[in-house]
Amino acid sequence: MTLATDALLARIEAKREEVTALTQALVRIPTVNPPGDAYEACARLVGERLAKKGFVVEYVRALGAPGDCDSHPRVNVIARWQGSAPGECVHFNSHIDVVEAGSGWTFDPFGGEVAHGRVYGRGTCDMKGGLASSIIACEALIESGLPIPGALEISGTVDEESGGFSGVGYLAERGYFSKPRVHHVIIPEPLGVDRICLGHRGVWWGEVETRGRIAHGSMPFLGDSAINHMSAFIHLLETQLQPRLRGRHTAEPVEPPGARVSTLNINSIHGGQVEQHYSQDARGWPTGDLPAPVVAHSCRAVLDRRFIAEENLEAVKQEIIDMLDELKRTRPGFDYGVRDIMSFVPTATPKDAPVVDATARAIARVLGREPSYIASPGTYDQKHIVRTGKLNDCIAYGPGILDLAHQPDEYVGIQELVDSAKIMALAALSLTSGA
Ligand SMILES: [Zn+2]
Repeated sequence: MTLATDALLARIEAKREEVTALTQALVRIPTVNPPGDAYEACARLVGERLAKKGFVVEYVRALGAPGDCDSHPRVNVIARWQGSAPGECVHFNSHIDVVEAGSGWTFDPFGGEVAHGRVYGRGTCDMKGGLASSIIACEALIESGLPIPGALEISGTVDEESGGFSGVGYLAERGYFSKPRVHHVIIPEPLGVDRICLGHRGVWWGEVETRGRIAHGSMPFLGDSAINHMSAFIHLLETQLQPRLRGRHTAEPVEPPGARVSTLNINSIHGGQVEQHYSQDARGWPTGDLPAPVVAHSCRAVLDRRFIAEENLEAVKQEIIDMLDELKRTRPGFDYGVRDIMSFVPTATPKDAPVVDATARAIARVLGREPSYIASPGTYDQKHIVRTGKLNDCIAYGPGILDLAHQPDEYVGIQELVDSAKIMALAALSLTSGA
């Protein structure tokens, strides 16, 4: 097999300009989320290219799913190439949405400019470069004429940046990420060309509301401020819970190492009257809305609690409720409510799983070094594949430096695009042939 795979690697090496051009073409379609711009154009670019290479292409609009509307249709593309004999299917899943460009760019964020051996632009690293590498990998495999049993699949899915419910979540509910259709999934997120990401920490998004009693703001002693109650709760979070979480370490190789503990972020807080923007003119007269004097009868805080594999979701929630109950016992007038917003448990694909093993061997062959194994502090689409698709043989592996994701002057190295395409091709070849 060595001679044949040498030829495959040489074939991909010769596609350096092609993988660069494809990354550029993808980046020039500004698929910004929110609101979910130009998804269909990007899906079509992928689908039309792969149809010419013999893939069967489906476009699946997530009708009725979060964010889907006629002005911003959530269009996903799934392409499947059937091999020469029965066998297992390797699926490469990339999200096509990107976050807004933001400020601070020295390159055109949607220009796909090439400089210093890199392609610059929003989404180069997260993760249109990875999508381009996976496409080049599969095309080279097909052109190589090597016997490939099973099937190759490539998908471009939407809304990963906002939870993936209209992308991988929607497709997973319809069997696109389950056996017998698919057996192994590689998500080319920008984790680095020599790193295999096995999974991610868990998350509980919840909303805590404190309640008070409305009164005139000039006589606050006649009411009971929900904001004061919230402040007592936040004080406990800061002085008791957050220090406790910092001492709760995981054995999982989460990167960066600062995230190898449990964390809590207070995402937002809203209390009292609806937020307005007050201003005065030169005379000191109000120019717009004015506040009315009331004591806040409600205050809501959104919590983003990331938990480690050693914890469980019920205990994570109970810990918060126990603190609220403690306040209810000790603080006159304290009353609260808790709502779940969204939760995902941690995922961790075993190191001896087929997709991990095949990718590790491919990294060693192409780069001449052993991979490192990591886990992600935040969730990504693996959560839907594991939870809804019930498929555990899934990793994130792709070109790019994670720290550059969502930053100005985001880029992906062209050498990394080529190297990761080689690694994806070798991994897919050994997984489909069961080697
Ligand atoms: Zn991403």
